[in-house]
Amino acid sequence: MAYAYDDQNIFAKILRGEIPNDTVLETEHTLAFRDIQPQAPVHVLVIPKGSYVSYDHFASHASDDEIVDYNRAIAQVCAQEGVALDAGEGFRMISNAGANGVQEVPHLHVHVLGGRPLGRMLA
Ligand code: C5P
Repeated sequence: MAYAYDDQNIFAKILRGEIPNDTVLETEHTLAFRDIQPQAPVHVLVIPKGSYVSYDHFASHASDDEIVDYNRAIAQVCAQEGVALDAGEGFRMISNAGANGVQEVPHLHVHVLGGRPLGRMLA
């Protein structure tokens, strides 16, 4: 039951409209909104609307339409936020999963960070 989904998690509540958020993009299968505790000038969370805990859960169980929509939405967010490589200075994508990944909210989210040099992450 490693992929058991808790529908009381905070992003599920955001998707149901029970908690406000600062949306930057909404598509058929994806929502992107600003992180409430931004770690960089650009810090957007991109989440699928479906009930997926982590990227591996999503990529192994979501439909092709959901997967394409989600990945295109990430690219669209990068373009909108001015960090995509064809017009900006670059970005970092992070998706924490599970205990070792120190995932706080158990609904898949990719952090898109940019707007400043982010430093080396991996030694
Ligand atoms: O990857 P992780 O699960 O640790 O990140 C959760 C992120 O969700 C945090 O960066 C936190 O600031 C953000 N958050 C949010 N809005 C909420 C609750 C958490 O943007 N209402």
